Amino acid sequence: MDLSEIYQDLIIEHGTDPRNFYELENPTNKAEGFNPLCGDKVNIFLKINNNIIEDISFTGEGCAISMASASIMTETLKGMDINKAKELFHDFKISVTEDDINSTKDLGKISALAGVKAFPARVKCATMAWHTMNNAVNK
Ligand code: ZN
Repeated sequence: MDLSEIYQDLIIEHGTDPRNFYELENPTNKAEGFNPLCGDKVNIFLKINNNIIEDISFTGEGCAISMASASIMTETLKGMDINKAKELFHDFKISVTEDDINSTKDLGKISALAGVKAFPARVKCATMAWHTMNNAVNK
């Protein structure tokens, strides 16, 4: 597998035109993430009300995979219950790190990032935003 193969259209699209890329005003939760392996940085902002992610945004800089992952994540999690979001994070982590994934799970757009599994150094790029979101939610 060639590295270029993980740059699917969706990753290129979100990497160059990230969604929800701004600092949310008055967030209820926020956290900062850093991936020293690649130099990616991300800030995640959330507005959580009654366990529902009413709004979510991010800022930061980094490689296309890290920015695309954060962008797709914010799109996916908006309006979602935080427990469902944590569950999705768990499933996503498995999909990029383990071979025998329970492939019956449909991860939607997030699965565009599953190709990083072949490149362990890039797994952090893909999961950083999710780890940061998880840290923010647990605060
Ligand atoms: Zn990266």
